[in-house]
Amino acid sequence: MTTPPHRPTLSVVAPVFNEEAILHELYRRLRVVLINDGSRDRSLEIMRELHAADERVKVVSFARNFGHQVAITAGADYAQGEAVCIIDADLQDPPEVILDLLAKWREGYEVIYAVRSEREGETWFKEFTAKAFYRIIYRITDINIPMDTGDFRLMDRRVVQALRTMREKHRFMRGMSVWVGFKQTGVHYKRAARFAGETKYPLKKMLKFALDGITSFSYFPLQLATYIGFAAAALAVLGILITIILRLTGSHAFEGQASTLVAVLFLGGVQLISVGIIGEYLGRIYDEVKGRPLYIVGEALGFEEQVNERVAVR
Ligand code: UDP
Ligand code: MG
Repeated sequence: MTTPPHRPTLSVVAPVFNEEAILHELYRRLRVVLINDGSRDRSLEIMRELHAADERVKVVSFARNFGHQVAITAGADYAQGEAVCIIDADLQDPPEVILDLLAKWREGYEVIYAVRSEREGETWFKEFTAKAFYRIIYRITDINIPMDTGDFRLMDRRVVQALRTMREKHRFMRGMSVWVGFKQTGVHYKRAARFAGETKYPLKKMLKFALDGITSFSYFPLQLATYIGFAAAALAVLGILITIILRLTGSHAFEGQASTLVAVLFLGGVQLISVGIIGEYLGRIYDEVKGRPLYIVGEALGFEEQVNERVAVR
């Protein structure tokens, strides 16, 4: 691939949602492309100041909050580098690890993901649910999403180019960057505690994110209804046989309404859950069919005009 003269070697991209407390420290340790995901605090002001003082800091600001995964998508869209590194703005991913990722890229790897071998300053609940989630998604999807990786990764331009063609609305970038293939490897690191502020992923967002990950890469939840259906039918046949035998031997067990009630409630519950699962997929299909752009940019600082034109609405 020929390199245009202006293309930098590495672009580092960080999504920002209400991170006024960390931006100066982030800048002290790293020069980045910052994606403002509709922050409601002073983040955008600070980002404008950083850009004014140092043009290596570039800013893409969304018209509202579009979510973390869309923010890093925009980062990959706008970044010009031969390699693009995605990193959390809160310094939980130490910028110094980028050197290790870069070394692997120079060896010829095209996706280098950072694997958390240790986590600092997380609640046991977050640690436990994250561990469980990665193990479940590993089992029920066809692609091998590596365990305990986040979005902290370095990607070759060819990978970024491939990701640019994948405009699905409910995005699970850590899965998508595995799905594209290419030469992949991992680098272990110790995930630090947040530099300041608190997590922007409350439980509700985390659950939605987990659902997006599973539905993006697996039909297993849809098939679950079939499995449970077969199991319930088998149980029913067994129940009929047992009842007939009991009646023939003159027993009066299994009489009355309790058993009927239990069966009806159980199957009613299973059916509603199944409808809900179908609903999760249906809603996602609806979002795709609408064909809306992934994000709306309100302001972009530090990019050439034609870049703005090209990807302002994607
Ligand atoms: N973030 C974002 N949009 C959101 C939520 C989060 O851009 O709607 C950014 C946030 O500013 C941070 C990164 O995504 O840079 C990861 O979020 P956070 O650190 O809160 O998640 P956690 O590390 O607690 O899982
Ligand atoms: Mg964090």
